[in-house]
Amino acid sequence: MKFDLKKFFFRKPKNELEGAEDAAPQPAEQPQPIPEKLAEKCEKCGQIVLSADLEENFGICPKCGHYKKLTPRARIAMCAEDFCELFADEESGNVLGFPGYDKKLADLREKTGEKDGVVCGTAAIGGMPCALFAMDYRFQMGSMGHTVGEKITKTFEYATEHGLPVVGFVLSGGARMQEGIVSLMQMAKTSAAVAKHGEAGLLYIAVLLDPTTGGVSASFAFEADIIVAEKGALIGFAGPRVIEQTIRQTLPEGFQRAEFLQEKGFVDRIVERKEMKDLLGALLKVHSPAAEVQP
Ligand SMILES: [Zn+2]
Repeated sequence: MKFDLKKFFFRKPKNELEGAEDAAPQPAEQPQPIPEKLAEKCEKCGQIVLSADLEENFGICPKCGHYKKLTPRARIAMCAEDFCELFADEESGNVLGFPGYDKKLADLREKTGEKDGVVCGTAAIGGMPCALFAMDYRFQMGSMGHTVGEKITKTFEYATEHGLPVVGFVLSGGARMQEGIVSLMQMAKTSAAVAKHGEAGLLYIAVLLDPTTGGVSASFAFEADIIVAEKGALIGFAGPRVIEQTIRQTLPEGFQRAEFLQEKGFVDRIVERKEMKDLLGALLKVHSPAAEVQP
């Protein structure tokens, strides 16, 4: 038996609280919360950048000017006010029974906290009300499956019904392979909703982000009234490597970059990230019904 020196030499505790430490087991120490990431490595220049600096600088590397990809909610927070989410419960499963897709979806949902690759809702940009959607690079690089197509379609239908312009933050690697033909059908479905919105005389602004490719570039990305692109974004249908291998020719420098597309007339304007909110607000204001009646 262990000899208790304390009890032997010292007087008994005056009250039960003094001796409580011997009797009652102490509660286990609470696990410390993991501190927020303080610094991260820039994926372009490789330098370590403080997360706070990066956040303050609109996600732009202060050392080399590289645009870090933004989550849809960070993008919305940066460009809009009074965001009110719509169709948040929309989700679909493994429609074709593609092997391993259920697990992939579950993992992505847990990792991102989102149900699929797009966040939709209403908001105000520069005080102008609009409907908007923002795609999520973390969800298979914003690939378009049933849920993404359905939510974007519903956003346009909602905007048509309520007479709102739409601002779309577009980013996509293309159709979602695991949903096969169902994924490709979203191209026609979203296009029909965009057309109806346009027929109602409403404005649609697409903001093309890095990368905007595949089925999305062949549908709602390029169906907007005004197409702006974030500086340096890769925009195209098939990727440059696939094209080079197919046509067996070297592509010109800067091919499929936003600046190249603007030069060729596919993009109306290249926007710096810091100017995005002001530009969108101004565009919405100029095209609002109230602006039309002014002399
Ligand atoms: Zn950098």
